[in-house]
Amino acid sequence: MPIARSILLWGSRNRWLEQQARQRTFARRAVRRFMPGEDVDAALAAATTLAARGIGSVLTQLGENLASAGEADTVRDHYLEVLDGIGERTLPALISLKPTQLGIDFDLGACIARVDAIIERAGRRGERVWIDMEDSSYVDPTLDLFRQLRRRHDNVGLCLQTYLRRTSADLEGLLPLKPAIRLVKGAYAEPPEIAYPNKADTDAAYLTIGTTLIEHAAHRGGTPPVIGTHDLRIIRALQERAAAAGLARRACEVHMLYGIRSAEQDRLHREGYAVRVLVSYGRAWFRWYMRRLAERPANLWFVLRSVVS
Ligand SMILES: Cc1cc2nc3c(=O)[nH]c(=O)nc-3n(C[C@H](O)[C@H](O)[C@H](O)COP(=O)(O)OP(=O)(O)OC[C@H]3O[C@@H](n4cnc5c(N)ncnc54)[C@H](O)[C@@H]3O)c2cc1C
Repeated sequence: MPIARSILLWGSRNRWLEQQARQRTFARRAVRRFMPGEDVDAALAAATTLAARGIGSVLTQLGENLASAGEADTVRDHYLEVLDGIGERTLPALISLKPTQLGIDFDLGACIARVDAIIERAGRRGERVWIDMEDSSYVDPTLDLFRQLRRRHDNVGLCLQTYLRRTSADLEGLLPLKPAIRLVKGAYAEPPEIAYPNKADTDAAYLTIGTTLIEHAAHRGGTPPVIGTHDLRIIRALQERAAAAGLARRACEVHMLYGIRSAEQDRLHREGYAVRVLVSYGRAWFRWYMRRLAERPANLWFVLRSVVS
């Protein structure tokens, strides 16, 4: 793993740095590049602007592990309100959930019940709810969560990370469920026994797993994958494979993060592909923001520019 990436991912778990960053105006200014604001109204406003460009959105509240199960009920109620807000504004917006925020650390059954309530509410408007994938220690409980939810709901999708050595095998186990999968490379610091240390292997796995999902959608009634990346080479390759397999242009949606490659989002939309942007909001932005910096350490220049501007 390149040294800058390792340092930034280490920093993402440092409480002292987090406290310092939260108190600095320049840090909050820099974060704005990837996040429209800390409250949900800012995210809904961003979703409205994206909709005017013909681009859908996926809203997600930042935050990871909780101190108590009660906090998870608050998160559930928050998302139920967000779904109502999306409905009132008739926005083309979905939501994406982190299992740790819904209490997966405390009691899987109670976590399932909370996510169930959210999926049921989203289903009233025919919308899918996405489940994020967090660090590798959460893969097994998250797969368990997803399997149980998938038995009861069609409108739930799961994120899989192609940097994990186990993901192809996990996908094989999931395919009989005809799962909706959002494929991403993976954002956490993981040891080489668990995740490919070389980017080329992660990229190759992305193409292989993406192709499996496309073939499954084209020939075995599966659900086309969501291509969750800013990597234009991978997007183009999978779009070509989807076309060759006979899938319509809009079948494989492309999802990107807010503030990254906006011009490409517009271009893909103009070319007839379905595009969504993941819009994050919330006060707990530090760890998430450090992961964005780690993905592209050149982004540190934006932080430095925010210090002087
Ligand atoms: C919709 C969506 C949902 C996601 N959900 C999850 C999840 O649930 N779990 C998880 O572990 N990860 C998630 N991620 C993050 C993902 O794992 C990657 O860390 C992130 O997408 C960067 O990798 P990349 O695929 O864009 O490829 P890369 O090879 O890292 O980047 C390709 C190109 O995109 C541009 N780029 C990438 N990142 C940045 C950046 N931060 N700033 C500026 N330019 C950039 C650069 O030009 C780069 O060369 C999600 C990403 C997306 C888009």
